[in-house]
Order: sequence, then structure tokens, then C-alpha cells
Amino acid sequence: MNADANGGPVDQRSVRRHNLALVMRQVAELGPRSRATIAAETGLNKTTVSSLVGELIERRLFQETTIENPGAVGRPGRKVQLSGDGVAGVGLEVDEGQLAALATDLTGRTRFSESVSLDTWASGPEDVIQQLAALARKALSALSAQMLIPAGVTVALPGRVDITRGTLVNPNLGWEGVPVADLLRRHLDHPPFPLRIDNDANLGALGELWHGHGRAGLRDFVYLHGKGTMGIGAGIIVDSRIFRGTQGFSGEIGHVVVSRRGPLCTCGNRGCLAAVAGALALLRTAKIPVAKVELSGIDSPLELLKERARTGNLDATRALTETARVLSLALISAVNLLNPEAIVLGGWLAGLSEWLVPVVQRELNARAFAARWWECPVVTSGLQGSAPLFGATALSLHEALTDPGSIELSQAVTVG
Ligand SMILES: [Zn+2]
Repeated sequence: MNADANGGPVDQRSVRRHNLALVMRQVAELGPRSRATIAAETGLNKTTVSSLVGELIERRLFQETTIENPGAVGRPGRKVQLSGDGVAGVGLEVDEGQLAALATDLTGRTRFSESVSLDTWASGPEDVIQQLAALARKALSALSAQMLIPAGVTVALPGRVDITRGTLVNPNLGWEGVPVADLLRRHLDHPPFPLRIDNDANLGALGELWHGHGRAGLRDFVYLHGKGTMGIGAGIIVDSRIFRGTQGFSGEIGHVVVSRRGPLCTCGNRGCLAAVAGALALLRTAKIPVAKVELSGIDSPLELLKERARTGNLDATRALTETARVLSLALISAVNLLNPEAIVLGGWLAGLSEWLVPVVQRELNARAFAARWWECPVVTSGLQGSAPLFGATALSLHEALTDPGSIELSQAVTVG
């Protein structure tokens, strides 16, 4: 412990930092409110609250607002709310066919958004990380031009990610044991803010929690993320938190075996959900040419599939129905095990929801154990495939929201 000789000042500082967090959380979670309301809600005295609010305004995390209480008599109450002009979170995403970046401020406003086409399978980790760093630098300089302090950078990666060591463990991109976070940190000259990596389905679930259906009150759900040619992952949200499991292997629904003699999966097993109902399998069943899909990404062949399904092409509609049935096999188990409030389809699965949702819903209603008493609704992510990026930016803002004292004032002064 780094307490000084008499112990006092360090304790006072940590108490103040704790109280700053308390005041921050009150406004972030419950919306604009007056100093008096914050004092009443937190049990802190009014002078302390005024001083803490003053510091949060100085750090540009809060700003004054004047919202009159409806029906109130006299002067409008001076309230404080989150400020969009202080910090921003950066999210980066590595996909099979592209790299993407998004930065949002504390109010959720987009401050930077860009994507770059790149064959990440063929490029290899060094090239991909170098280009990812270039995109990150572009995002950071855009924030600097807007006088915003970066609160953090979070990278969404396909596959199994060791979040404690910042390493991509699972070879979903043909990479294995690549220390993505360290390499990126080095490329960015060891930035002062946190730099994290995480699994894209987990970040998609967090994106859905903070920017999607979670805003309407969903707190326990399974987010199913369709990504790339073979990727199907799940992020499990329990009581508004991501459930990772002991070693971070939770949510690997793509490797649930749905057919013992099915096709070989990238993991080495046979008949995994991702191999039977992934985008590649779906397109093959629909008789859509997939020769170049692995190099060019799946967006355009999936668009062709939609077009054909809309015109009633039997190969297309049968393939979609069969895929939905196979997805249901895995989802019935998830629903039986977790009893979630809802299943959310995201990534490319969301784009096919008009065909997938009715079949999956029917299968769940017919076969999930609890279905005769309660229907688990299947809904579509409204984040248009960007749920992982939204989750990544939100996670990057995590420190600013939970420990605002960690945002260095010196950064605030020197930016720009
Ligand atoms: Zn597998």
C-alpha cells in the first residue's frame, strides 16, 4: 500500500475518489439531477456534493443544465448531466473482411466512425495489427481535434480471447497465442489509457445491453452473434453483467455439437453448430457460389441469398428454414439451461431475421421445457451488425463512468 507516513492524505484521497464515483454513477444511471437530490440520494452532505460535482464539471464529465421540474414554482432547478465534451471511448473490430473503428462520447454521440477493407485471414497478425493501429491513431487524432480525451481503446476479436493477458488464444483468424493488446500498445507508443481486447460476441452482448434492447429493460439474455464464414458465438448477460465462466470459455455456442456425423469444424470436432449452420454452410445449402467468400467476406453472397429468398427461390428459403432449425437445437438447450428473458439475434443473423425468427420462435415454443408456461421471445438486434463495436466503445468508457477520478486532469488540460 502506498500510504504516506501519517496515512491521512492517502485515505482522504481514496474516500474522495470513491465519492466521485458515487456521484458519477447516480447521474449516469438515473439521469440529470440537482446537487440537493444527489445529496439526498447518496447520504453525502450538500457541501461535499457541490465540491464533487465541481470537480466532475472541471474534468468535463458533467455539465450544468437547467431543466425545470414540471409544475414547480419559482426558479428552475439547476441540474447536472453527463457531458459529451470530456471523454470518448474507442472501439475497434477485426472481422474477416474488414477492420472497423467507432468512437462515442459519454452521451453516446458518435465522434468517429470508419472501416477499412482487409482480408484478415490472408494478411496475418502483424499486418492486421499494424493496420489496426493506423486506424486507432486516426480515431485518436479525430478525438484530439474535437478536444476529447480518450478514456480507453477496446478491440473486438473473433474467437477465444484471454482478457487478462490480452491474447487471442483460439485460431479463428488462423492466429494462435497472439498478444494483440501488447502489440497494439507498442504500435500506439504505450498510451496512458486502458487498452483491452475481448471476444466479439461478448462485446456484442454488452453493446446490446448498453445501446440496444438493454435500454428497454432487458437484463438476462443470450445474444447470438453471426460473424464471418464460420463464426457463431454467444454472449450471455445475467443480471446486466456478462457471464464469462471460469476460464472465459462461456458462450461458445458455435461449438455445441448438433450432428455427430456432421462436417468438420475449425476446432477439429465434427458437427458443431458453426460448421452446420454457419454462413458458409447456409450459402452452400442455398446453392450460392461460395468460391471466393472466404477471401471477400460474406456480405454480398448473403445479400444475394436475401434477394433470392424474397423472390421465393426454394433453395434459398429451404436453406434458411434448415439453418433456423439447427440454430434452434442449440438455442433450446441454452433456454433450458439459462431461462433467459429473450434471445437476441445479431451480426449476419440479424439481417436474416425475417426468415430465421419465425422458425426459431416456433421451435422454441414447441420444444423448450418451460415453453408451455412462458414463451422466450426471439428478437433482432437493432444495431445493424455493429453491436460489438458499440460494446467496445462502451467498455472503453467504463473507467470514466465507474472511477472518474482516474481521468487525469493534466490530460484534460493538454489535449488540443
Ligand atoms: Zn467446433
